[in-house]
Amino acid sequence: MLLTIGAIWLPLRVLIALVIFFALYLFAAKIVRAFLRPMPEDPDPEKVRVVSERFRCSICGAEVTMTAAPEGFDPEAPRHCREDMLLVVEAE
Ligand SMILES: [Zn+2]
Repeated sequence: MLLTIGAIWLPLRVLIALVIFFALYLFAAKIVRAFLRPMPEDPDPEKVRVVSERFRCSICGAEVTMTAAPEGFDPEAPRHCREDMLLVVEAE
């Protein structure tokens, strides 16, 4: 009886160990693959337009002037103190 349980339990433990091993392997491979992703290319200078927008942080009062933005859509407000900064001046 004891021998029978041992005969079943041992292959089951090996199977569980193999499943855990492959799960950890796939997880590690996914992390390594994320590091191997190529760097994004530099933006094309001809597709950047000149803007002049000033943003202010509503929490601490810091101000930022944006001088260039990608062509085709309005730039999003940068974040400071974990909040979106407020647009103060827009002059184009
Ligand atoms: Zn701030």
